[in-house]
Amino acid sequence: MNEYDSNRIYDLAKSINYKKTIEVNKADCYVLNTCHIREKATDKVYHDIGRIKKNFRGKKKPIVVVTGCVAQAEGDILLDREKYIDAVIGPQSFHKFNQIIKNLEKKSSQENLTGFDVKEKFDTLNYLKNSDSSVSSFLTIQEGCDKFCKFCVVPYTRGAEFSRPINELVKECKDLVSNGVKEITLLGQNVNAYCYNEKKLSTLISKISEIKDIKRLRYTTSHPKDFTGDLIDVHRNNKKKLMPLIHLPVQSGSNKILKAMNRKHTVEEYLEIIYKLREANPRVKFSSDFIIGYPGETEKDFSNTLKLLNKVEFINCYSFIYSPRPGTPAANLNEIDYNTAKKRLIIFQNTAKKIKLKYRRKLFHKTSLVLFENKLQNKDEFFGRDEYSNSVIVKTKENLKGKIKEVQIKGGNQNTLFGEINKNQNKRNFAA
Ligand code: SF4
Repeated sequence: MNEYDSNRIYDLAKSINYKKTIEVNKADCYVLNTCHIREKATDKVYHDIGRIKKNFRGKKKPIVVVTGCVAQAEGDILLDREKYIDAVIGPQSFHKFNQIIKNLEKKSSQENLTGFDVKEKFDTLNYLKNSDSSVSSFLTIQEGCDKFCKFCVVPYTRGAEFSRPINELVKECKDLVSNGVKEITLLGQNVNAYCYNEKKLSTLISKISEIKDIKRLRYTTSHPKDFTGDLIDVHRNNKKKLMPLIHLPVQSGSNKILKAMNRKHTVEEYLEIIYKLREANPRVKFSSDFIIGYPGETEKDFSNTLKLLNKVEFINCYSFIYSPRPGTPAANLNEIDYNTAKKRLIIFQNTAKKIKLKYRRKLFHKTSLVLFENKLQNKDEFFGRDEYSNSVIVKTKENLKGKIKEVQIKGGNQNTLFGEINKNQNKRNFAA
């Protein structure tokens, strides 16, 4: 979502004559768009600002703005501790970016903009064409979260759930397509909670799929509680454009821990969704998020998490040791022993890696459909992604940007697959 926000902040800045630069030591303005999900996000901001300060020692100070969720969560603290920061702007206030920059060009007092004007934000942004022209682009359709998982900062940094109107989103998709975009990932902190005038995510996906030049659609991140039958049906009826990789965070395989986290679903309910989706489209595969070592997690809870991992065979897992976020209810709980949590994380990640490698080996010598995004610098190689978002590289002199090709996978490692373009483009022996 920060990538989408960064693109839109740039669209705003362009309209007051700012341009992106790679000459970072000559910039007039720095925007640090931050994420608060990972540990030490704030430290990273101070570190980056330290670097800017050093580069500009003895020169005219650039305008320095911190945007995003760190700005939202720690705005006053940032301004207090680091006088080099000129403004903090929260994720629901960045539509006022230009106004802040104009103020800062004239005077140097610090500004703190961390309101929750999400409707006003999108009303303002709608007047500005989304200029992203990547082959694969993001589109924020929903923001905020009402779920209040006990470990998570999102409800406090992005605010309550808000869904954008369908017609506004279809228009933005058409704008993206006119820039050359072929694949759109619909974004929301709780994307499948999308609901506008009683129209849900399933309706939005169907509407956007009608746009001829959109070749691929994805959506992230979903919550199991909002995975309703209509959304499962879209995976049955829209196999051509809706990609078969579903990111469905589960966090733990223990019902006791899920309850402690306030996740609002059980392991059994989660598995029920997986089975229904597999029945709707046998080619679907899953990725997920896991928190290891949540307060109160026992060996038995952890072994249940491993069981779930082995049962679903997720092709990608994002796993982290639990670490408290200030201001969340879980921050007041007693943490489990760090070394125990670390050992469990290593076991979990090794198991996840084996599953991933087994899955990847099955792709070798099969055909994948790859949407190509960009040529690799100084090489006759092109980078793209298959239907499951796996990175694929092929050797070619041809410009493949924006094209979908059948690729024979020859080999690969943990991160990248290597292949050759099929001479015959109608093999239809696709990897699943
Ligand atoms: S559903 Fe996701 S965004 Fe919402 S509180 Fe839980 S973890 Fe955070």
